[in-house]
Amino acid sequence: MEFRFSPEDEAFRSEVRAFLAAEWGPGRDARSFTKKLAERGWLTMSWPREYGGQGAPHMRQLVYNEEMAYHRAPGQTMGADRVGPTLILFGTEEQKARFLPAIARDELTWCQGFSEPGSGSDLASLQTRAMRDGDSWVINGQKIWTSNAQRADYMILLARTDPDAPKHRGITYFLVDMRLPGITIRPLIQMTGQAGFNEVFFDDVRVPAEMVVGEVNRGWYVSTATLDFERSGIGRVIGGLRTFEEVVAYAKRTPARGRPGGTLFDHGPTRLALADIALGFQVGRLMSYRVAWMQSRGLVPNYEASMAKTFGTELHQRMARAAFTTLGLAGQLLEGHRAPLGGQVPMALLQSVSLTIAAGTSEINRNIIATRGLGLPRG
Ligand SMILES: Cc1cc2nc3c(=O)[nH]c(=O)nc-3n(C[C@H](O)[C@H](O)[C@H](O)COP(=O)(O)OP(=O)(O)OC[C@H]3O[C@@H](n4cnc5c(N)ncnc54)[C@H](O)[C@@H]3O)c2cc1C
Repeated sequence: MEFRFSPEDEAFRSEVRAFLAAEWGPGRDARSFTKKLAERGWLTMSWPREYGGQGAPHMRQLVYNEEMAYHRAPGQTMGADRVGPTLILFGTEEQKARFLPAIARDELTWCQGFSEPGSGSDLASLQTRAMRDGDSWVINGQKIWTSNAQRADYMILLARTDPDAPKHRGITYFLVDMRLPGITIRPLIQMTGQAGFNEVFFDDVRVPAEMVVGEVNRGWYVSTATLDFERSGIGRVIGGLRTFEEVVAYAKRTPARGRPGGTLFDHGPTRLALADIALGFQVGRLMSYRVAWMQSRGLVPNYEASMAKTFGTELHQRMARAAFTTLGLAGQLLEGHRAPLGGQVPMALLQSVSLTIAAGTSEINRNIIATRGLGLPRG
């Protein structure tokens, strides 16, 4: 067993860190930062060279994702990570020529129109309809929880094109221009006060036939490829590490009321809770490394990816709860000069709730671990 990155990967890690130190930090503009990533070819480093990528190995991508997540930098785009690789596999030559260069230059923002009010975990039961009419498909229905729809230029959309076929076999995958007439976007306000989600309504939206990806009625299989392009999930684990480190440092330097000379860190239960989280970060990191290592060997991680996802997202929630308890009453403040660490802990607590729902709930992932990992019968 080799627990090391190659010298080239380590050199690349140093290069990414130097770039982040120079180009990213509080107050920096995310859009111009991702443009610089695009100029370096980092957004599409894993794409094959023939499509303008660098053919970077999985472990190189892992190093990149880990550094971006640790530094809380917007290092990935949906277009480069999911849409581009899907088009490389299933797109027509026209679709590739039209979209891949624009995605690589970070000129297009994408959203994902999969979930519907009655179809989340059971996505194949989706009801949005597309009916063929001449050179177009006419789309009617509703999507929900569509992140970033309000900013997106295009949506990848799943719609039912054969209602009589078994549910997985009557679905088609479309690229939809979000400016088409008949599309209505309604924001959903989250408990953080932010509006990242949307409901998207389709009312006789005419999508040109050349915007179908893959074969008609075979869109389910295209969509599973899109979801598979979510790689090791290292970001879910490491995304909380910086906050954790800042909480530990804060607890060490902050005097505790009622304990003269003592700090928040001197409180026994706090120390144990934080030690437990430190342990979790090491375990979660190794789980994500394992997934990336399997991919680098041409293996297809299955329940291993579900384990990393479940552990990483639940760790994030545990970390946010432990941090919240550590900071005491002031830790509830979201803003103002009295809010410890700029209010990031209560925000992390609120945001962490959704992590065990997005991209497959913990229950669904535990089902996968039970059936495919442990060989137990389906419940
Ligand atoms: C932050 C975030 C971003 C998202 N962004 C997008 C996006 O951009 N585009 C998009 O299309 N969707 C998006 N979603 C939606 C997401 O994919 C769904 O929320 C998720 O698939 C769960 O579906 P649901 O909400 O309908 O819950 P349901 O599927 O209705 O589940 C409800 C509860 O029942 C449990 N459950 C369901 N089936 C089973 C089962 N067979 N066994 C055991 N328990 C079960 C679930 O675990 C859950 O606890 C996003 C969600 C979040 C939280």
